[in-house]
Amino acid sequence: MGPVKAALLNKELGIKTLRQLLVYYPYKYIDKSRIHKINEIDGNMPYVQLVGRILSTEEAGAGRTKRLISHFSDGTGVVDLVWFQGLKYIVKSLQPGKPILVFGKPTLFNSRIQITHPEMEDAPDNVHTTTHEMTGLFGTTHERMTYEATPSFAFKPIYNTSERMKKGFLNSSALAKITANMFKLLKEPFEETLPSYIIEEYRLISYDEAIRNIHYPSSPDMLRKAQLRLKFEELFYVQMNILRYAKTRQNNTHGLMFGIVGDSFNTFYRDCLPFPLTNAQKRVIKEIRSDMRSGKQMNRLVQGDVGSGKTLVALMCALIAVDNGYQACLMAPTEILAEQHLETLRGFLKDMKVNVELLTGSVKGKRRDMVLQDLLSGKTNILVGTHAVIEDNVVFNSLGLVIIDEQHRFGVAQRAKLWRKNEVSPHVLVMTATPIPRTLAMTLYGDLDVSVIDELPPGRKPIKTIHRFDSHREQIYNMMRHELQTGRQVYIVYPLIQEKEKYVPQIDADYSFEGKDGSNVLSPTARKRQESLDMKNLEDGYTQICKAFPEYKVGKVHGKLKPAEKDIEMEAFASGQTQILVATTVIEVGVNVPNASVMIIENAERFGLSQLHQLRGRVGRGADQSYCVLVTNFKISETTRKRVQIMVDSSDGFEIAEEDLKLRGPGDLEGTQQSGMAFDLKIANLARDGQILTFARAAANKVITTDPDENNGQNTMIWRKLKEMRDTNINWGAIS
Ligand code: ADP
Ligand code: MG
Repeated sequence: MGPVKAALLNKELGIKTLRQLLVYYPYKYIDKSRIHKINEIDGNMPYVQLVGRILSTEEAGAGRTKRLISHFSDGTGVVDLVWFQGLKYIVKSLQPGKPILVFGKPTLFNSRIQITHPEMEDAPDNVHTTTHEMTGLFGTTHERMTYEATPSFAFKPIYNTSERMKKGFLNSSALAKITANMFKLLKEPFEETLPSYIIEEYRLISYDEAIRNIHYPSSPDMLRKAQLRLKFEELFYVQMNILRYAKTRQNNTHGLMFGIVGDSFNTFYRDCLPFPLTNAQKRVIKEIRSDMRSGKQMNRLVQGDVGSGKTLVALMCALIAVDNGYQACLMAPTEILAEQHLETLRGFLKDMKVNVELLTGSVKGKRRDMVLQDLLSGKTNILVGTHAVIEDNVVFNSLGLVIIDEQHRFGVAQRAKLWRKNEVSPHVLVMTATPIPRTLAMTLYGDLDVSVIDELPPGRKPIKTIHRFDSHREQIYNMMRHELQTGRQVYIVYPLIQEKEKYVPQIDADYSFEGKDGSNVLSPTARKRQESLDMKNLEDGYTQICKAFPEYKVGKVHGKLKPAEKDIEMEAFASGQTQILVATTVIEVGVNVPNASVMIIENAERFGLSQLHQLRGRVGRGADQSYCVLVTNFKISETTRKRVQIMVDSSDGFEIAEEDLKLRGPGDLEGTQQSGMAFDLKIANLARDGQILTFARAAANKVITTDPDENNGQNTMIWRKLKEMRDTNINWGAIS
């Protein structure tokens, strides 16, 4: 490979060595035995392979929407091949009339099937063309050619590549050539990476066979075996790391001793608590309390559905830290949420002498200096903030407890920085409302102790969730009107794509490109288009609502507003000045308006299930019956229909997360993307490979328990590989 391509590979994928390239597995294979006919494909199909020729090519659009369209036919129909980028180069490379093989994902756009940025290569040698005589409308005779390739067994590996790589002539086919070449040059078999007794017990194939077959499967069966072997190995080492770390931690992580429950806690409990704690809250506080006085560092995850009252639990634990002469820090993922936490905590503590301060990116200048100073002097007891608190110049007097709300968005490395803010690592409490399925939890949190708040405060009625097509708008308006007339308020939420955000819908997306992690992400152009479309939908929706409900006041919030404008709108809704709020997901976190009883979610298919669950949690906060209406188009895919049905059927966050995991895979689950897992899994899929995970965990457990001193010669390779992993990954020790 030349230096330019090598540099590109390094920059885009971080691949510098052959070994790294070796473990850059294909994310799928084209089954070369299957060539589709254009008349049998539709916009919902995954990737297809077509053989045919380009009839004609034209340019369309201007400026940002400028694109090249080739009309491609195999004799059974026509699809449009579309390019938005590299037009000049593409035009030159096209050879109209010549049989070519095209690979890509068909989508439906303006009722035409199109494939954006397809991969193309010369048609395989075994292509036959058949000429048909056809009688046209006016009796003229047309010639029609059908292209057919004889099926033969061969899997072609498909590697993820970035747009930049494609432009630099490093597309999947180019990578495939490089890997093929690599295997040709390799003389020796690859060294084994698992002890033979494990390989035998689980009937695995050798590492050498596996690695060759994962790139170039010799048969479907060998591909399956190669996948099994590599998944097992990957999960085995993840589990080894977790279990080994757990063992060390159990043995010797020294922690702060919070021996007493003192004035702050007791006064608050006796005099300031506005309502009795639920039994679940009591239990969880007890669990946390016993951790904090054990002399070991606490690493606990608190799971509790939306509205289960986690903030109060966090506060009471912070008070224990304060009683023991330490500071506590509550971290939230967004500024809005941090501000709301500040307000909530100050509200709860209004009659007490506990100082709560806020530190976010927006706290600047003199104010910031003050906050930092009070933190260092110890005047501040509880600091609420965003990731801004991680910065090195934020120094605590004595940090004893870190509470991370919605921890998914904090990476391991970020969290590790917090540990170091006190001589002895502070206790750590992680709180999440996004319930995590068991298999994920086993891997993400391995050894974390888990507490569950499995009870909602009393007096809440379950929210009724219904699915409506957007063509039934009158029905939806009627129910809104009914609720408004009884004095309730209504949210209407529209999707709005955000800069750098993954395009959640994925399933029904137009113009979707394959992203680096195998998910659909939009090109910058398509993203801009989507964004302006989203804004238009929201504005149109707003106008429509104003027209349909002239007797009510309608507010509007979205991420494009300045924070002050947003606050004014939110305040107006919270105080009841506006009765209907048209919004984007900015209201997902941090809004508490108990009088709002209807949540209408437009384009519900565009949201992740956990996100829908969060949104739905914005209503049902008062004593009245609340409703959530999921609005979708009539034409939705089977998967979307299932997803919507799950929301209708279940109000249990755990169940929803499990189902979501099954349908979408963990890569798409809210948060896991940014979870900062040191192990980002290359091949195993926690949604589908639960069984393999169980075996891998058992095998790892056996190694840990039968060879505690790590001196069994058969296991040497395990310790060596673990060390290698540690040297190449970020801080494993801080997985918690
Ligand atoms: P979440 O777990 O989603 O963070 P919050 O902490 O925001 O939930 O609590 C939701 C609402 O329930 C808040 O208004 C809070 O004051 C209230 N709440 C918390 N605990 C109780 C309780 N034991 N009884 C009644 N209301 C409670
Ligand atoms: Mg919360």
